[in-house]
Amino acid sequence: MAAEYGDEIDLESDDRKRGGRGAGGAGGKRGFSRRKICRFCADKQVQIDYKDPQTLKYFITDRGKIVPRRISGNCAKHQRKVSLGIKRARMIALMPFAVTGK
Ligand SMILES: [Zn+2]
Repeated sequence: MAAEYGDEIDLESDDRKRGGRGAGGAGGKRGFSRRKICRFCADKQVQIDYKDPQTLKYFITDRGKIVPRRISGNCAKHQRKVSLGIKRARMIALMPFAVTGK
C-alpha cells in the first residue's frame, strides 16, 4: 500500500527581502491564486487600506458583495481588515454597496 501523501503545507514561504518598492503598479490579470493562503500574510508589502479600492476590489464579487474567507483564502485577521476597509470605502463612495443588474 503505497499511499501517496501529498500534503501541501505552505509554511515555508519565500521571504523576498530587499523587495524594492518601486514596482509601480503591476496591473496583472492573474490575481487568481490557486493555493489558499492569505495574500496579506504572504506579501507583507500589501497594505489593507480603505482608501485603496484597487486592493479591496479583489475581495468583492461583481455584485459588490464581500467575498467570504473560504473563497478569498484570507486569514481571520486580514479578512477582518478587508471587510472593514470595504465598509469604510463604501462610506466614502469608493466602492459599491451593491451592484444591481442593468
Ligand atoms: Zn493574513
